[in-house]
Amino acid sequence: MKKIYLDNQATTSLDLQVFEAMTPYFTDIYGNASSQHQFGREALKGIDKAREQTAKAINASSNEIYFTASGSESNNWAIKGLVAANRNRGNHIVTTSIEHPSLMRSCKYLEEKGYKVTYLPVDKYGIINLDDLKNAITDKTVLVSVMTANNEIGSIQDIVSIGKFLKSKNILFHTDAVQAVGSIDVDVKEMQVDALSLSAHKFHGPKGVGALYLRNGVKIEKFISGGEQERSLRAGTYNTPGIVGLGKAIELATGPQAKQTRENIRKLRDYFVSEVQSKISDVIFNGPCDLNKRLASNASFSFKFVEGESLLMLLDLKGIAVSSGSACSSGTLDPSYVLLATGLPVEFSHGTIRFSFGKDNTKEETDYVIENLIEIVDRLRQMSPLYSK
Ligand SMILES: *Cc1c(COP(=O)(O)O)cnc(C)c1O
Repeated sequence: MKKIYLDNQATTSLDLQVFEAMTPYFTDIYGNASSQHQFGREALKGIDKAREQTAKAINASSNEIYFTASGSESNNWAIKGLVAANRNRGNHIVTTSIEHPSLMRSCKYLEEKGYKVTYLPVDKYGIINLDDLKNAITDKTVLVSVMTANNEIGSIQDIVSIGKFLKSKNILFHTDAVQAVGSIDVDVKEMQVDALSLSAHKFHGPKGVGALYLRNGVKIEKFISGGEQERSLRAGTYNTPGIVGLGKAIELATGPQAKQTRENIRKLRDYFVSEVQSKISDVIFNGPCDLNKRLASNASFSFKFVEGESLLMLLDLKGIAVSSGSACSSGTLDPSYVLLATGLPVEFSHGTIRFSFGKDNTKEETDYVIENLIEIVDRLRQMSPLYSK
């Protein structure tokens, strides 16, 4: 049975070099990094190094990096913690209508607590309009959160322009860069963000470890009460192997080889997109057509007269792993809010599949996927009462 993994935006494989960097921290260097003896000191050294690697990768300082247990946690903490610590600056939040559920639902939670939230619309490519953002700002706006890159359709926002504007207004700015780190250059100074979320398993690091960048001087409320870890803001015994893995993975994903890796992924994706568009009819390519405004890994297609779930299962039978548009909406068959926000007609959005390429994919795999995709889409359409050629 073939095993072809085209779901790199859901998670990525653990890089062998990352695994090797982590291994000693499971076996020999098992001390609690907060302990004051040599076992603890050794573990802490690994964490300090990872903090430096993480900071360097995004052009931050080590003391601006806070380790968390996931990208979801970083998003929750950023949104809830920043507004709580800056209540005196207002009760209004601005975000977009295509954020990850961890951010979206943190905003919904705050709405229940009395905060006001504006969800900015996106155009058909999944990009917000800077004027809409400017118009949404009031004298009560305390925080703006705009994701750097989208997990479903790969759209990349103009974070630099947004950051510049918000700096001039002295409004806090958070970005969910979980999909961006490792895929595009991320520089917190250039973006002028106050807070940024990232997650190791999206760039060939381990699952269950993330980080929040918090600019020096920005106030945030404590997220977990307890010990003194993470400047007393996020307690809990350090996940030393995980943190060490994050450090190694982010170093590799942003290091000298990164440019070539990204270019290879882009080429494969572009080949796939052009093959699908020329060989399958009634299909919409979701997200930006301008390839500079989308992640190199992402190809999201909506096939008319096809049920996305059926397509996903038939591809799975051929050993091909992809994601349907509703993967993040916890098993529901409703079209994803991201696709609906782009104005995709409902009859198309039910037939959406996200193909996300990674560094391990090959041209041969891509050809196999195209061949099977053509055949399966055709078969499903023949079965559809709505379809006529
Ligand atoms: C995966 C993802 C998250 C969540 O990260 P986890 O570490 O899986 O919790 C948040 N935002 C975006 C854009 C993502 O793609």
